[in-house]
Amino acid sequence: MTNQIAERIALIRQQLPATVRLIAVTKQVSVEAMRVAYQAGIRDFGESRIQEAASKQQQLQDLPDITWHLIGSLQSNKAKRAIELFQWIHSLDSLKLAQRLDRLAQELCCRPQVCLQVKILSDPNKSGWTIPDLLASLPELNRCHNLQIEGLMAIPPLDLNDAEILNFFEQTRDLADKIRQQHWSNLQMHQLSMGMSDDYQLAVQAGATMVRLGRIIFGDRVYQGAVTSDQ
Ligand SMILES: *Cc1c(COP(=O)(O)O)cnc(C)c1O
Repeated sequence: MTNQIAERIALIRQQLPATVRLIAVTKQVSVEAMRVAYQAGIRDFGESRIQEAASKQQQLQDLPDITWHLIGSLQSNKAKRAIELFQWIHSLDSLKLAQRLDRLAQELCCRPQVCLQVKILSDPNKSGWTIPDLLASLPELNRCHNLQIEGLMAIPPLDLNDAEILNFFEQTRDLADKIRQQHWSNLQMHQLSMGMSDDYQLAVQAGATMVRLGRIIFGDRVYQGAVTSDQ
């Protein structure tokens, strides 16, 4: 298994435009496999759970230049731990959480980079801002000066065909463009975190700047109840 990881990363890297950031999603992946990915050039790792990330960060302390991305939903009682552990939070899904992160970032004297997770289509399985909610929240988000609000993150619903997925990603891009054209001082909106193993090529076609890839690099995840129970 591990000897395929480097090959897979090289292949994916070849297909991706140089400007697209490849985030290796390592939930349920061993630190040994993560070291192989690091050797193959990966410096961005995405994790879904605080506990799992904390443990891996300790075991990988000797690798100094990793950027850690939180991609899973964040409970507000873990917000402080999240900004201590992650430079990027892709799953910022409510104004309340944004304001809490903003206060905590001020206390901790850091400025985490965040993406706003949007729900372009209604999806009972996903959290995130609806478009009207997000547009209504922009003035308050713009006041969260301790957050670097970089762009949008979106995950398509499971039942779409390729044309619909592409359209979904294009709508996400158009929403980011629309917000950027409003020239908010604190909303950069240059980043689009979209695309997973099954749909990243469509996401890149629609303008993704960051793709979050797990299975296509590391193979299928083997879920173990004990490991997933921390959140
Ligand atoms: C698990 C996960 C990914 C990676 O998914 P793969 O299908 O393994 O590529 C990307 N983004 C989020 C938010 C995830 O939870």
